[in-house]
Amino acid sequence: MNYQSILAEIQNEIKPLFKEGKVANYIPALQKANPNDFAMSIVTIDGNEYHIGCSDKNFSIQSISKVFTFTLALENYSKELYKKVGHEPSGDPFNSLVQLEYENGIPRNPFINAGAIVTTDSLISKYKDDTFSQVLKFIKKTSNNNTINFDNEIFKSELEHGYRNLSLINLMKSFKNIDNDTKKVIETYFQQCSIMMNTKQLAHSMLFLANHGRQPITNEIIINEAKAKRINSLMLTCGHYDASGDFAYKVGLPGKSGVGGGIVAVVPKKMALCVYSPKLNKQGNSLIGTKALELFTTKTGLSIF
Ligand code: GLN
Repeated sequence: MNYQSILAEIQNEIKPLFKEGKVANYIPALQKANPNDFAMSIVTIDGNEYHIGCSDKNFSIQSISKVFTFTLALENYSKELYKKVGHEPSGDPFNSLVQLEYENGIPRNPFINAGAIVTTDSLISKYKDDTFSQVLKFIKKTSNNNTINFDNEIFKSELEHGYRNLSLINLMKSFKNIDNDTKKVIETYFQQCSIMMNTKQLAHSMLFLANHGRQPITNEIIINEAKAKRINSLMLTCGHYDASGDFAYKVGLPGKSGVGGGIVAVVPKKMALCVYSPKLNKQGNSLIGTKALELFTTKTGLSIF
């Protein structure tokens, strides 16, 4: 299949959609993104790469970081982790407080904010003050790239305006589902969200999930096969919050979005993809990114179904 010309077709077909959607502004620093940016990358497990658009431009990975912290927490705690966070879709927005109150502070899954905050808390119990550098080290390992870092301005901006996340963490602390100091946990969570990567690096970073848990280029085992299956399953059912069903319906691949405008997706046993376009739909997922992935699976037949 000629993936490069498929990428060119997709770039052409998404053009009319640039008038739709809205760049995230509840974290003021994210509003600086260029609404017209578009990039898409495909990296196969046998080492071929195809890119289009601004695939070298770094953007804030935001909730895509939840895949990395969940993987690291699952590696450390296995099933024990599920005492603190579930694995069911929430059907609610990513920052919703409602369910958390009547479900006694146990978030539905690790890909909504509350669930990712609990996951980060579990990592702090293990790595203490070294947690963020362990997360960064882990991302460098999965993406086979040593240059990755975070953006201090985006981190500070979210710290200043993260009222909802502060409510979520305090509510969970009241239910005794946060073990560490809330300030430390929320800062580490915001820091992981402000990590900057481009579509090339993010596609590389997801290859282990397309390859039963082994990074195919370095040949390093990141996580065992059974856990890789579970991470992919959760990306399929929960990776896009209250639009997870819609994403599965249209795209048919495990995926994870972030409000920075990135979406990663996995074609099991074949490849990992990443698309970037910062204008979001109502549920906070990249509008053009979702469409581009839908076009990709329609044109190639490479969905999991
Ligand atoms: N840092 C963002 C937040 O907590 C992440 C949300 C997202 O990407 N959906 O609100």
